[in-house]
Amino acid sequence: MSLDKYSVEKVLTVHHWAKNLFSFTMTRPAHFKFTAGQFARIGVKVGDELVIRAYSVVSSPYDEILEFFSIVVPDGALTAKLQHLQVGDDIYLEKISYGFLTLNRFQQPLPNDLWLLATGTGLAPFLSILQDFDVWKNYQHIHLVYSVRNRDELAYQERIQQIVADFSEQHCGFQYVPIITRDPAAELHQRLPVLIENGQLEQFVGYEFNPETSHIMLCGNPQMVEDTKAALKARGLTMNRRGEGNIAVENYW
Ligand SMILES: Cc1cc2nc3c(=O)[nH]c(=O)nc-3n(C[C@H](O)[C@H](O)[C@H](O)COP(=O)(O)OP(=O)(O)OC[C@H]3O[C@@H](n4cnc5c(N)ncnc54)[C@H](O)[C@@H]3O)c2cc1C
Repeated sequence: MSLDKYSVEKVLTVHHWAKNLFSFTMTRPAHFKFTAGQFARIGVKVGDELVIRAYSVVSSPYDEILEFFSIVVPDGALTAKLQHLQVGDDIYLEKISYGFLTLNRFQQPLPNDLWLLATGTGLAPFLSILQDFDVWKNYQHIHLVYSVRNRDELAYQERIQQIVADFSEQHCGFQYVPIITRDPAAELHQRLPVLIENGQLEQFVGYEFNPETSHIMLCGNPQMVEDTKAALKARGLTMNRRGEGNIAVENYW
């Protein structure tokens, strides 16, 4: 494999959230440009082989470093190794960014209410998107919905509060909605598609999906994406194609 298309970066920090979840930051080369919501292709050498995977960027396009949020897949080709990252380790970064989970893909309807619906590490691109001033300027209502199985998997809680504090001045239309599917004591604990079908999500945020105004992004577990898409379509919302429509998705596997 040619290594020309990669630059070799250095790990700057590593933070473990739970046994199966961690984040890390690394150096960002000047040539690496991306739009909030896009993903990078990164990896490490395992023996002689370079193992590369797609990773949504958590940091904002204005940051000087790159941040990523990772699952640990037991025996996963990349993450079994990546979970042991140390400050100073090498990370390979493909020189270009990829992906269409970006807000500029929505042309019609015009921006009004934005729904960012994530499971697990699918939170990553939304953290990047929320660190863009234009988002706060363009949308009257922003709902960040983050579904995990167990409470200890709710990563980035302080960062979410910090982003809100930094960006939402005079913006009263932001709602953060955690869902914990294996905790019956959690205020919301059913799967996202169920919470859409039974109206609980909208009741919780006090706002309704609307084919005339809503921009909706789904990211993470493909089954969640599929079932949530179906629940939204049943409500008259449409997939975004060539700029038109309500729903944009990214599957992680
Ligand atoms: C566009 C895109 C963006 C992605 N962004 C991220 C990201 O920001 N963070 C991240 O952790 N992963 C992300 N992924 C998944 C990532 O590319 C790898 O699949 C993941 O890091 C596991 O790699 P692996 O080689 O260890 O296991 P793989 O052999 O790649 O995966 C093995 C299995 O693990 C499960 N799996 C893979 N990824 C996840 C996940 N994120 N959460 C739960 N189960 C998973 C699936 O069942 C998959 O079949 C993204 C994937 C795509 C396509």
